[in-house]
Amino acid sequence: MTQVRRSKQLPFAAAAFAVVVAMVLVILAPAGDLAASPEGSPGARGVGDLYFPELGNGGYAVEHYRLDLTWGADERYLSGVTTIRAVTTQNLSRFNLDLVGMEVEAVTVDRRPAAFERAGRELVITPDQVIEQGQRFVTEVTYHGHPTPIRMGTDLFALGWQTRGREAYVVSEPGGAATFFPVNDHPSDKATFTVRVTAPNDQTVAANGRLARREEVGEGATAWTYEVRDPMASYLLQVAIGDYELVDGGTVEGVVLRHAFHRRWATEGRVATETTAAMIRFLAGVFGPYPFEAYGVLVVDDDLGFALETQTLTVMGRELVVQGRGADITLLHELAHQWFGNSVSVAGWNDIWLNEGFATYAEWIYQERSGGPTAAALAQQAAAEEGLNIPPGDPGRDELFAPSVYLRGGRTLQALRETVGDGAFFEILRTWVSERAGANGSTADFIALAEAISGQRLGDLFQSWLYNPTSP
Ligand SMILES: [Zn+2]
Repeated sequence: MTQVRRSKQLPFAAAAFAVVVAMVLVILAPAGDLAASPEGSPGARGVGDLYFPELGNGGYAVEHYRLDLTWGADERYLSGVTTIRAVTTQNLSRFNLDLVGMEVEAVTVDRRPAAFERAGRELVITPDQVIEQGQRFVTEVTYHGHPTPIRMGTDLFALGWQTRGREAYVVSEPGGAATFFPVNDHPSDKATFTVRVTAPNDQTVAANGRLARREEVGEGATAWTYEVRDPMASYLLQVAIGDYELVDGGTVEGVVLRHAFHRRWATEGRVATETTAAMIRFLAGVFGPYPFEAYGVLVVDDDLGFALETQTLTVMGRELVVQGRGADITLLHELAHQWFGNSVSVAGWNDIWLNEGFATYAEWIYQERSGGPTAAALAQQAAAEEGLNIPPGDPGRDELFAPSVYLRGGRTLQALRETVGDGAFFEILRTWVSERAGANGSTADFIALAEAISGQRLGDLFQSWLYNPTSP
């Protein structure tokens, strides 16, 4: 994300431990018991995120979400059926989904009714029998209510489903997706999505990915179905319902460009986004091919105070779009997140500089190669900003979007570039996005890659730039 005011390998360790435990159990168990139905245990109530232990859940990995939502614009009322296809990572007796607010009517697991209870943001589901490790299962949750945004990770804005008049849209980073659907709400569990939204005929629905179908369903309503075929972190889901104009922007290097501009800001939207194709070509030249099938910008009729890189469909507020081409750097930043953050997602939220420091550095490279100041000069300028003593590699739960995460994060990459040289530096960035496309990476993974490609020991460099309490 960008604010307007400024222009874990734990799962592996856990799995290894589980294997050891399983081996011990096999050794201890009498041979006759092996054929009996498995003992299950409850999935963890979080994935072990260092900042947000309540986010996500253990015991399974989601493959696909299907959201079937009906929006009552006048009542701001949402009713939904979310269907989740997942695979267990243990013998599972019980598991959680994240859901904030909303009234749950029914839950089924593999089409059989399942018991459920609510505990804070945990929806606790007990299927009628243990699901064996490695088994695929389908959970369906039927629910309704008035979605309400929540506070987490920043004081700058409330997260989740937003409504303004009859318009609705989503800004969820880091944990707001759970305000409108039951979800394993952590970027370490990415999945594909189908999003079907039924809305009044006078409204338009925009979402990530591609529009697959639009059908009139009677009673003055139309159902819009979008398909997201690339894995996506839940915080990057966008569902926008409003008086939008859908704009075809052609294609660039095989990528479909399509935008959704609120009708009031359609002219400004066209001006602000006219360099999108050139920016995609530019960033593809630096980092490697654009990672998704589509891209575009959603302009909402609201003062957001920021832009957010919702996957393949960056959301920006009207206060940004009125800047016209003045929004270029912000849009470049959000576009860069499609590589850094969206295709390669953080392993945990303490890795946030892998998103923001990299998108900031992409701004600096863009300026350097467009006849502006060099990245080195921009990094030097950034040194004069305040607040850089927050360590970007560990900013803390409430400072995810602190200026230091962006600026000292960007300066970390400049320091790396000066240490390893341009050849190795850009090879490190390109390898990072190609090797981890559609997956995740941690800061430790990035340091290991930088050391492997450069052949240098870089522990001291990253320690002083990312973790020391005083900025170098
Ligand atoms: Zn950003």
